[in-house]
Amino acid sequence: MINQERLKKLLIELIKIDSLSRREYAVAMRLKRELEELGAAVVIDDAGEKVGGNVGNLIAHISGNQPAARPLLLSAHMDTVVPGEGVVPILDGDILRSDGTTVLGGDDKSGVAIICEVLRVVQENHLPCGAIDVVFTICEEAGLVGAKCLDVGRLHARTGLVLDSDSVGFLFTKAPAANRMEFRVRGLEAHAGVCPENGVNAIKVAAEGIAQMKLGRIDHETTANIGLIEGGMAVNIVPNMVLLKGEARSHSREKLDRQTEHMRRSLEEAAARHTIEAGGRRFQATVETKIESDYDRMDVPDGAPIVRLVQAAAKNLDLELKTMATGGGCDANILNQKGLEVANLSTGMRDIHTVKEWLDLKDLYLSARVVLEVVKLNAESR
Ligand SMILES: [Zn+2]
Repeated sequence: MINQERLKKLLIELIKIDSLSRREYAVAMRLKRELEELGAAVVIDDAGEKVGGNVGNLIAHISGNQPAARPLLLSAHMDTVVPGEGVVPILDGDILRSDGTTVLGGDDKSGVAIICEVLRVVQENHLPCGAIDVVFTICEEAGLVGAKCLDVGRLHARTGLVLDSDSVGFLFTKAPAANRMEFRVRGLEAHAGVCPENGVNAIKVAAEGIAQMKLGRIDHETTANIGLIEGGMAVNIVPNMVLLKGEARSHSREKLDRQTEHMRRSLEEAAARHTIEAGGRRFQATVETKIESDYDRMDVPDGAPIVRLVQAAAKNLDLELKTMATGGGCDANILNQKGLEVANLSTGMRDIHTVKEWLDLKDLYLSARVVLEVVKLNAESR
C-alpha cells in the first residue's frame, strides 16, 4: 500500500531543502503544508526563539477515526548536520547518495518522509486509525535542544516511535545517559625564557590530568572522551589557561557519575601537584569544572506496549526485528526522560554524519511498511 514513487519523490524534495540546525524554517513550512493537506492541525512551538533558530518544532495532531485507540506519537527531526547545504541527491538504482560534497540528509529526512507517506496512505484508503501526534523537531543535531524545549503536555500520545536510526532490522530501546564536561585548568603566566620558575604551565597540568584519566571504552556500557583542547598564547609564554571539553556516556547512571567524578578528580589531583612560591606568594594551579547532564538514558523494556506493537507489526510482514542498545543519544532519550515511552526505529540511512552518507530505498520502503502496520495495529488497541 506504500506508494514507493511518492515516498521517494518526497524524500528527494526534502533533501534538496537546506535545513541545518537552527535554519529549518523552509523545510518546516513545506511539512506544515503536507500535514495540513492530510487534515492535521499543525502548530509550531516557541522552541525556535528559545534556541536562536528561525522556526520551532512542528507539532501536528490527527484525530483519526478510532477514538478508543491509544494515541500514537510519530517523530523525526528536520535538521541536518554540516556540510549540508545545496545537497545534490544522486539516484543510482535503489541507492540514494549525495554528490560527495555534502551529507545526504537522509538523517533524518528519511524518517520525516516515511511518516508523511504513512499518513497519506491512511488518509487515501480511509484506514482505521487512532489519534496520531506528529512531532518534527528542530536542532536534534545541536544537542537535542528542540526536543528539550518541547512541551509534551501538548501531546495526546504517551507512547510512540522516533524514526532516526541506521541499523535496519532493529528497534533501539536502550541508549546511554550522557554528561558534558568543561574544565578550565588555570596556571600562572610568566616569561618562558626569563623566569619560567615564576609560572605554572597549565598545559602541563592538563596533560598530567588527562594522562591519569581512563578514556575511550570504559566497560560494555560506559564510554568517555576528551574531545577538545584549547589554550596557550605564545611559545615564549608559560600558559595560564587550558580549556578542555569532554563527555561521558553510560547505560548506568551510577557508572556515569563515577566516570565523571573520576575525570574531574584526575585534573584536580594534577593541579594540586603544581604549586609555586613566587614574590612571597603561594600559587597553586586550579581547575574550574562545569558538568552538564546532556540527556538521560533511554530504557524501554522489551515488554512495553510500543515494543510489542512494533514486533507484532514486523511479524505480520514476516520480518525479524530485534531490540537493541545504542551508544548514541537521540530525541527518544529526551522524550523518555519527559515521561513518554518511545523507541527508535531504523529508516535505511547509512554512513550518517559523513559526505558518504547513503540510503537504500528498499530499506526506506520496508521501514514505511512497518510504520504503516504499526498504525493499523494500534487502531485496534484499547
Ligand atoms: Zn538523526
